[in-house]
Amino acid sequence: MAGKKIKRPDGRKPDEIREISYELGVIKNADGSAKFKIGNTEAIAAVYGPRELHPRFLQDPNKGMLRCKYNLMSFSVSERKRPAPTRRDTELSLVIANALSQCVFLEKYPKLVIDVFVEVPQADAGTRCAGICAASLALADAGIEMKELAGSISAGAIGDLIVLDLTKEEEDWPKGATDIPITYLPRQKLITGLQLDGDISFADFKKALKMAMEKCKDLVKKQEEVLKARYKGSDEE
Ligand code: UDP
Repeated sequence: MAGKKIKRPDGRKPDEIREISYELGVIKNADGSAKFKIGNTEAIAAVYGPRELHPRFLQDPNKGMLRCKYNLMSFSVSERKRPAPTRRDTELSLVIANALSQCVFLEKYPKLVIDVFVEVPQADAGTRCAGICAASLALADAGIEMKELAGSISAGAIGDLIVLDLTKEEEDWPKGATDIPITYLPRQKLITGLQLDGDISFADFKKALKMAMEKCKDLVKKQEEVLKARYKGSDEE
């Protein structure tokens, strides 16, 4: 179907993501921490552990647990969010933990838990993906034994235009938008997170998925650069 040419409100190309930045070690009390900004969305991740899992009956003698708590702060959105945890916060906590579990050698941490806290002080869509990127870097910063880092980005469609990294304005597109947050682990070639909100044809879905997987590779490369830059000096000391 030949639709009218859609232009993105901020003038980005379809596969162009917003400006990004990573920062390591933002929470001094945590074992590892990182901040990730993508446009006006900002996520801070703090990792505590590995530490003993309580209550003890939850302990697995063969592997550790990666647990996550996601929180969209009250003032992070234009219409104040009530501070009590919502069903969405609970869902996203599980989504983030599942997306990241395959990054870690959990078998190295029997009976232990690695706690990942994701706080979102500013939200303009894509917060679960931003949280995953921040948490991936924070896990590495905490010295957790990892198989690899994770990249996460939302793909989707506004009208018939397939795009990456939708803003809130794009998610609320009057004629309908589709949002597909994706987490991809490039070394294992594993998709560990995929949700779909909206309608999309299978051909467009495949196109969106391919675009997101490519961008996740870039996001991981950037994380590697940040880690290398941080620890480069410590070799020479
Ligand atoms: N949002 C909001 N109030 C809420 C929850 C979400 O204004 O209580 C906004 C916020 O900008 C968020 C966006 O809606 O980033 C999209 O939320 P969604 O549930 O799709 O998750 P996200 O895209 O943030 O992973």
